[in-house]
Amino acid sequence: MARIVMKFGGTSVGDIARIKNVALRVKAEVDRGNQVAVVVSAMSGVTNQLVAYCTEMATLHDAREYDAVVATGEQVTSGLLAIGLQELGIQARSWAGWQIPIISDDAHGKARIEDIKGDEIIKGMEQGHVAVVAGFQGVAPGNRVSTLGRGGSDTTAVALAAALKADRCDIYTDVDGVYTTDPRIVKAAKKLDKITYEEMLESASLGAKVLQTRSVEMAMKHHVRVQVLSSFSDAPGTLVCDEDEIVEKALVSGIAYSRDEAKVTLIGVQDQPGIAAAIFGPLADANINVDMIVQNTSHDGTTDMTFTTPRADLERALKVVKDNMKVPYKSIDTDKGVVKVSVIGVGMRSHAGVAQTMFKALAEKKINIHIISTSEIKVSVLISEEYTELALRALHTAYGLDAA
Ligand code: ADP
Ligand code: ASP
Ligand code: MG
Repeated sequence: MARIVMKFGGTSVGDIARIKNVALRVKAEVDRGNQVAVVVSAMSGVTNQLVAYCTEMATLHDAREYDAVVATGEQVTSGLLAIGLQELGIQARSWAGWQIPIISDDAHGKARIEDIKGDEIIKGMEQGHVAVVAGFQGVAPGNRVSTLGRGGSDTTAVALAAALKADRCDIYTDVDGVYTTDPRIVKAAKKLDKITYEEMLESASLGAKVLQTRSVEMAMKHHVRVQVLSSFSDAPGTLVCDEDEIVEKALVSGIAYSRDEAKVTLIGVQDQPGIAAAIFGPLADANINVDMIVQNTSHDGTTDMTFTTPRADLERALKVVKDNMKVPYKSIDTDKGVVKVSVIGVGMRSHAGVAQTMFKALAEKKINIHIISTSEIKVSVLISEEYTELALRALHTAYGLDAA
């Protein structure tokens, strides 16, 4: 007998027939004698619609009310799945975040889970009850509903698995595992049997949305065994685990991309000590993330400084720079049509030449690189968005990742 948390994403609960299918999958685990808690997302498209309603109501809106609105999608699916399970003769009930409670901080819209009181759910599980938990939501100080950021149901599932001391956390989605790159873009992408927490964390934070970044952080910290698998097939999935569980380590485990990027270039900035601090200090104070940075060498006493921010923050970033720039500059240029493509692999730690393979493959396709950044286990480049698919395919082949 094992204790399992099963999480089903938006497509997996996309309509009533699919929720009934999920109920059957849950029943199968119960019939095997396992203790089960389930985490569900909103039906696919619902959260987007709820977000759009808030924006239509007011472009700038109260983040606490945004949370009150967008958290409702998961409440619907948790109730529906509980009904579906009861129809199959299984004792089940729905749990909203506040009922458990899943306690979060007050960063509305992107709250972090601080604690989960799992006692009642454990008591129920021990008596054969299935808890159906609404993902993505928690309760913030002041008894306000909070949400955990887009894709946050993954984090609910992993956090719940840690709190319940579950043996496994199974993430059911619309692909049957973690692939070498997004299988919807590169048909030759290969499914991985296993991936290290570290590589999964890097991939998620660099754009592979198959797992929310925080869910991987949480799994790594609490040693939760996470499996990614399909709710539509019985194919074996991908296990996210420690490095020492992986016998054959690939040099490069995957390629990720993120369209959530915008490029800003300050042209003709006076080249003098303190320019970086003058530009990036105010951005940090305004809570705007700056990711890649490049400063060109100066020739006539001035230089160009280029950096990236999340696309949604571009307008705010521009305002902050313009309002606070103490150092003289000529003009400012922006580009929203960029994508960050990253090659990831723990093998890079011990092998040279990984970046060169990337640069060569892109050069052969005549793809221009705007910015490069590296860390111990990844190399990222910023390129024009129109080349996304071409670059992903070329790199996939260049690193020998194509499925046979
Ligand atoms: P869910 O609604 O189940 O949470 P998501 O849409 O959030 O599902 O995540 C699954 C999607 O992640 C897949 O449909 C796929 O297009 C995308 N994806 C991106 N990178 C990868 C990858 N490396 N492996 C698998 N899927 C990926
Ligand atoms: N429904 C939320 C979203 O679409 C959370 C999730 O699906 O994980 O972002
Ligand atoms: Mg998701």
